[in-house]
Order: sequence, then structure tokens, then C-alpha cells
Amino acid sequence: MSKVRTKSQVELRRGAAWFFGGLAVTILTYTFATNGGGGPYMVAWGPVVFGLFLLLKGLIGVLSGDSELAPVLEERTPASPDGKCPSCNSMNPPKRQYCQTCGRYMLA
Ligand SMILES: [Zn+2]
Repeated sequence: MSKVRTKSQVELRRGAAWFFGGLAVTILTYTFATNGGGGPYMVAWGPVVFGLFLLLKGLIGVLSGDSELAPVLEERTPASPDGKCPSCNSMNPPKRQYCQTCGRYMLA
């Protein structure tokens, strides 16, 4: 099996990261502020709320058996940098956009 995750699993993980990360920053800065004589402290409630939202959304998706796959980031490399057509295997000048023989778009 390849490492394919569902959209909900990705949301769950990302949500947990934001939530716990934001919570840690909030607690840490709050502790520093109270120990240091009541200075201003940073409250990272934005990430916490955002993370919680993502976390719950992902959790609901996972629990409900949502199997929609997460979008895989594709590399934007030319299909044929050497000018060879992936469709008809004819040779074209390098970095040509369209195949001379069959007209296939070759840079995507
Ligand atoms: Zn071709």
C-alpha cells in the first residue's frame, strides 16, 4: 500500500497539529507572563480554534467513513523534456509544447 490518506485523515492530523501547537504557545506564553510579573502575553487562540475546527471536521469525516482521497501534490515537470511525445513516441524539438505528429500537449 502506498501512503495515500483520505482527506479527513489529513484534516484530522493538521487540525491536531494546529490545536496542540496553539495550545502549547498559549500556555507557555501565559506561564511566562504570570511568572514575569503580569506582562503582556500572546494568546494563540486563533490557531487553537482553527485547529479544533479542522480536528472535529476530520474526526467526523473519519468516523463517518469518508473515503475521499486527499489531493496529491503533483510535480510540475514537463512530461517530455527531451521532446519525445508520450503519446506517439515521435521526436520533437526539445521543450516543444505540442507534439508535431499527434498534437498532444506535452508540458503538463
Ligand atoms: Zn505525438
